[in-house]
Amino acid sequence: MKKGFKKIKVFSIIVIIICIFWYAIGSTILKSRNIKINGFSIGLDDDKAGIQAANVSVRPELLLVNREHCLSEDYIPKGLKIPNIPFSKTAENEEKHVATLIVNPLETLVGAARSEGIILLGNSGYRSYESQERTYNNRIKSQGQKLADEYVAKPGLSEHQTGLCIDLTNKAGYFLGSKEARWLAANCYRFGFIIRYPAEKKSITGTEYEPWHIRYVGKKAAKYIHDNGLTLEEYLEK
Ligand SMILES: [Zn+2]
Repeated sequence: MKKGFKKIKVFSIIVIIICIFWYAIGSTILKSRNIKINGFSIGLDDDKAGIQAANVSVRPELLLVNREHCLSEDYIPKGLKIPNIPFSKTAENEEKHVATLIVNPLETLVGAARSEGIILLGNSGYRSYESQERTYNNRIKSQGQKLADEYVAKPGLSEHQTGLCIDLTNKAGYFLGSKEARWLAANCYRFGFIIRYPAEKKSITGTEYEPWHIRYVGKKAAKYIHDNGLTLEEYLEK
């Protein structure tokens, strides 16, 4: 009997040691799944293979969303507010909102433009996962999968879900090549914004040129990106 107990005891100790060992290896593997962006560590969510909002320790304005970095379905930016800027007639209530972090810089930018005779209108800021899903599915219905994939971000892959960006427009409703677009490209960095999808950078950003889509990254990053002709992806890798 005694011998039997001893055997069980030894066996239990071995099992405990194996468990501890297993746990230690597991956490090392998990740690190695963290990616480093610009000196900050971001944990990858195993299940969704994207950035899990709760794990993001990066400065919020440097959050990267693109085809390789998606947001989870329940990601909602901290604080959403309608900035005090004029909006286009087509802007819906949800998309008039932006993350509180960018309210002041955006109002300052639009105000500075106005003082130089450039009238910028807000067109589309925050879009929830659900509304992006709706837009994407509607586009599939109306134009087919191929065109939908080309022009509409899949839910979770749209930067608009961060609340850190906004599409601006002008009174004519035609922004490409306009004086408003030129002003924006030349000046938005002064307020902490970048043209997120520059021309001829599709191979890096995965998105066609969008002169109307500005993204807040903070003044320091915006100036560096502007001065060096980079994209956010390239800046975060530097
Ligand atoms: Zn946009």
